[in-house]
Amino acid sequence: MTNFNWNNIFLNNYGTPSIQLVAGEGVIVKDSQGNIYLDFLSGIAVNSLGHAHPVVTEAVNDQIRKLAHTSNFYANEPAIKLAEKLIEISKFDAKVFFCNSGAEANETAIKLGRRTGKKQLISAHNSFHGRTIGALSITGQTSKQKPFEPLLGDVRFIDINANSAIRKIKRKTAAVFLESIQGEGGVTPCEDEFLQKVRKKTLRTKSLLVMDEVQTGLGRTGQWFGYEKSGIKPDVITLAKGLGGGLPMGAVLVTGDAQNLFEPGQHGTTFGGNPVVARASLAVINFIEKENLLDNVSNMGNLLTKLISQIQGVKEIRGRGLLLGICLESLPAKEVENECRNLGLLINAVTEDTLRIAPALIVNIEQVKRCAEIMDDAIKNVTKKGGIK
Ligand SMILES: *Cc1c(COP(=O)(O)O)cnc(C)c1O
Repeated sequence: MTNFNWNNIFLNNYGTPSIQLVAGEGVIVKDSQGNIYLDFLSGIAVNSLGHAHPVVTEAVNDQIRKLAHTSNFYANEPAIKLAEKLIEISKFDAKVFFCNSGAEANETAIKLGRRTGKKQLISAHNSFHGRTIGALSITGQTSKQKPFEPLLGDVRFIDINANSAIRKIKRKTAAVFLESIQGEGGVTPCEDEFLQKVRKKTLRTKSLLVMDEVQTGLGRTGQWFGYEKSGIKPDVITLAKGLGGGLPMGAVLVTGDAQNLFEPGQHGTTFGGNPVVARASLAVINFIEKENLLDNVSNMGNLLTKLISQIQGVKEIRGRGLLLGICLESLPAKEVENECRNLGLLINAVTEDTLRIAPALIVNIEQVKRCAEIMDDAIKNVTKKGGIK
């Protein structure tokens, strides 16, 4: 670590990081001591094309020399092109709102919900939708909510994949928020049948169905959006993380009647649709298309699942594509995360017993094999130490 005291200059909200990263290329990153790592976390499912991908750096460089920022008083070409591209890949007659983060995308969806004239919001236990007061209000984790109460009233939480959940959606429900695969909650997928039932019920109660695709969107599951596998059509899709390929970008796609809920002046954000970030996002989507990366995601995801499921000490693997949760039989996930880092692999303990891996969509067979080898070694080492540091 470079010579500074983290706690003297940063607020104490993250805890002190273990290493400092200085450079990266593709799936490889280097720290300030010169150590090299295989990056299988990608800045939490953000660096979709890995580090310093030439299509991203060239797009950003080119754009920042021409026009860096316009505000939404004026149109800019990259934002127009990106909106058109997102509409195309959504396969719906969608309209777009650009923002800068996942929480902000979900705030937008909450405000759309309010514009239905109804107040109640429904979300899932163990969900994660962001840290702003609105997004936190629909985040189903008491430990994150408690220190900041009172939050928005009239939020109800349901269990995913449970029939009782469907009954809780009522006429007074403005919007239902779901992740197709709960990311921060431990990589727990919604079953197709559950999403189909929620869709059917929300159509009957005239409640917006908001799919939070912030972590699962833009190719991470092997399809453009995680909900696609279930065949449903949501009213609202929220995006961020992987969209900007490493730059801060959020988007909300809105379909059907919900497109008429906002009127001029009711919502906005200064940086939304910033041309530099829009160029990066366009470069990411175009490259995924051109190189058939969705197929690579499915193939590498299947290989990872196969190799990791053979490791002794692994109980279960959840998720799909390149968003996988590896549930351990008995070891603390945090210990295995630390040991993986010592051995040159970045992943994270998303819960006490589950490791999350989310490598760049360009990851190759060699890197996948190496990841599985290091995980195997890490689990063996932690087991030898008795699982305690
Ligand atoms: C990360 C995440 C968010 C919050 O995104 P930020 O950019 O950190 O605000 C919201 N929803 C899901 C599903 C996420 O994974």
